[in-house]
Amino acid sequence: MIIKTIHYNILACALLLGASVAATQLQFGAKPLIVTSIKPLAIIAKSAAGDAAQVQYLVPASQSPHDFTLPVSALRKIADADLVVWIGADFETRSAKLMAKLPDDKLLTTMDLSLAQLQNSEQSDSDDHSMEADPHLWLNPDNGNKIAAAIQARLGLPIKDIISRQHMARLKAELAASADKTYLSHHEAYAHFAAAFDLKLGPSIRNASGGTQGAKTQYRLRKTIVKTNISCVFVEPQYKDKDAAIIAAEYGLPVVELDTQGLSQTLSERAYTEFIDRLVVQFKACFQ
Ligand SMILES: [Zn+2]
Repeated sequence: MIIKTIHYNILACALLLGASVAATQLQFGAKPLIVTSIKPLAIIAKSAAGDAAQVQYLVPASQSPHDFTLPVSALRKIADADLVVWIGADFETRSAKLMAKLPDDKLLTTMDLSLAQLQNSEQSDSDDHSMEADPHLWLNPDNGNKIAAAIQARLGLPIKDIISRQHMARLKAELAASADKTYLSHHEAYAHFAAAFDLKLGPSIRNASGGTQGAKTQYRLRKTIVKTNISCVFVEPQYKDKDAAIIAAEYGLPVVELDTQGLSQTLSERAYTEFIDRLVVQFKACFQ
């Protein structure tokens, strides 16, 4: 533990040095480097900046972003970055100390932006994290556009939407047939998606941080499954999902993959629209 602390202090110095190097790079016209904590934010950043910036992200596909620890290679990337984008201390809890050391003009905390908020009724009713805000902000395209605008402003780029109003309206119309359907999700991650597209928020096996629910919530969940007409269980590729597979088998429910992290998405100017399109297709697959 002591070794780790010393290590972090040395790296903090490296990060401060990195900040001035990055500023010099900008002055000489090199492409700025945006480093994001998680892949969904990289999808937004690349869509926002296009060819005007390089974009990298820190959390490897094999890890859950909820309990992710930064490896030394990630610290090097942060030092080299002109702009670091993350959700915030409530989500990337293990990176919070390090992020706090970055200068304000190098860090964009998306949770601090005025994003679309969720109604209390749409939030978790879990007994462990009852009023905790759902951090999966990137699943609401309005938030995607707002985060993109903040990145564009930081880089001095023209402000433009990364997913158009017309496209969002078209997706909403496509999802209308699924609006009254119920599903079970691996963890509480879909509140922003459901709110954006007027969908029902189904019950979850795990809480919004990907943790196991308390006994009371698990008991209530099983009662809900029995009395509700659930169409499928959504699982996410980065989790092992053993608990989801067990519940699906127990109640004879199909398992459908929903890639909320955009793990298979390539980073391009169209990335965010393609990511949301794929989510919509995957969501509809539950009810076909
Ligand atoms: Zn999550």
